[in-house]
Amino acid sequence: MADEHEWPECTQCEKGQLLPLSDYGPDGAAVTYKAWSCTNPQCGFVIRIHKGDVTYGRAGSQLGK
Ligand SMILES: [Zn+2]
Repeated sequence: MADEHEWPECTQCEKGQLLPLSDYGPDGAAVTYKAWSCTNPQCGFVIRIHKGDVTYGRAGSQLGK
């Protein structure tokens, strides 16, 4: 029985995996899977979900303003 999580592969570097990140809203309610981040530090690809909008970017680079 495999109890390991299978995360989706990063389509940017095809080496890392995308890990789901959770956050907490202003009311303390958990916001699950708000963002996804690549496990490859050289890639740093992140996907953020904010109010239904999905933004893509890389760690260390600003996403607009
Ligand atoms: Zn990646």
